[in-house]
Amino acid sequence: MTAKIRRDIIDTMRRLAARGLYTGTSGNISVRGGAGFFVTPTGIPFDETKPSDIVAMTLDGKTRGRLRPSSEWHFHRDILRARPEVNAVIHTHSPFATAMSCLRRDIPPFHYMVAKAGGDTIRCARYATFGTGALSRNALAALKQRKACLLANHGMIAVGADLGAARRLAEEVEDLCGQYWRALLAGKPVILPRREMAAVIRKFKTYGHQPAKPGRKKGR
Ligand SMILES: [Zn+2]
Repeated sequence: MTAKIRRDIIDTMRRLAARGLYTGTSGNISVRGGAGFFVTPTGIPFDETKPSDIVAMTLDGKTRGRLRPSSEWHFHRDILRARPEVNAVIHTHSPFATAMSCLRRDIPPFHYMVAKAGGDTIRCARYATFGTGALSRNALAALKQRKACLLANHGMIAVGADLGAARRLAEEVEDLCGQYWRALLAGKPVILPRREMAAVIRKFKTYGHQPAKPGRKKGR
């Protein structure tokens, strides 16, 4: 099981990199498991990271093994500790989300897919130095009732019940930031009203769920 988590983290890094969301040593991933969680190591480029390099940590911040964890392990640990429904956390410096984070403003409901992050905005967390407890506190506040946020002048965080869900949301947030960027260049985007976003959020609760067929295994 823990060997699979390590392999899945590497696979996710590569898939995010293939879409341009993950470059060099920027970005990090954690997954709940073992005695706490597994997190990508600091300072090793994603394309040189091996499953055995993934660092096992406890929720009180102790590591096992020879490698040091990502410098952002604080917010990974704090999110996993505060949000029992979350089992995977992805942080990237992906181009559009990072550019939008430098404007230090929330992504408004310019498109209904903003609701994929759990509400009618994707918040931008207040700025704090990378790797600090202050950044972790700001990220947790921005993630309240949300599954994604921007980090001011830094990047984004996406979380999920599993690694696949967190990866798909990170890709969605990056796409949304790209779309918002283009809409801002072209003019003044029309913002969807709160009532419409509430309807979308209700619809998303059942959207994409196939009816159960006899003989079909329950989807993961
Ligand atoms: Zn970062």
